[in-house]
Amino acid sequence: MLADRLPITLDVRKAAMRGSGVSGYLKPLDLKRFRPLLASDEGLINVEMSFYRDEERRYLLSVVLEADVEVTCQRCLEPLMEHLASSSKLAVVWTDEEAAHLPKYLDPLLVGETPCDLWQVVEDELILALPAFSYHAADVCKLNVEIDSDPAPHKAGRAEKPNPFNVLGQLKPGKKH
Ligand SMILES: [Zn+2]
Repeated sequence: MLADRLPITLDVRKAAMRGSGVSGYLKPLDLKRFRPLLASDEGLINVEMSFYRDEERRYLLSVVLEADVEVTCQRCLEPLMEHLASSSKLAVVWTDEEAAHLPKYLDPLLVGETPCDLWQVVEDELILALPAFSYHAADVCKLNVEIDSDPAPHKAGRAEKPNPFNVLGQLKPGKKH
């Protein structure tokens, strides 16, 4: 893919006013908090960001990223390529209070007077997208473990727990449908 490295910083409010976007790639070594979670420096992260304003005149940022990075197989401890994909909508806010008032579908991105650090935004998204444990497929893993064919062991326990939202629903004054 013909692309440039993602810019490090950007005035995201200005970008949202213009309705512009940026895209580019990053390497694992660019990201100091993400890199230690990986097995090697190998891999590539592709990022697309678009900036716009919504009807509430909020400054929004949509981040779509795809990455292929090397993680450690938790069974055989050999490296394995993991594909990560994530897509999220962030609202640029000045203060924590402003963040607390956002609708649930928007995640806050706290940005003060200084330009926003785009690499950190990408890094946060990648850390969230990374599975807690990764394993090779059974037929390629160096450690050939017999996999228990346990039919949904967690099912029994789950059924006994009451769903807190159902309880809430019962407490609400009756709504006519
Ligand atoms: Zn393995």
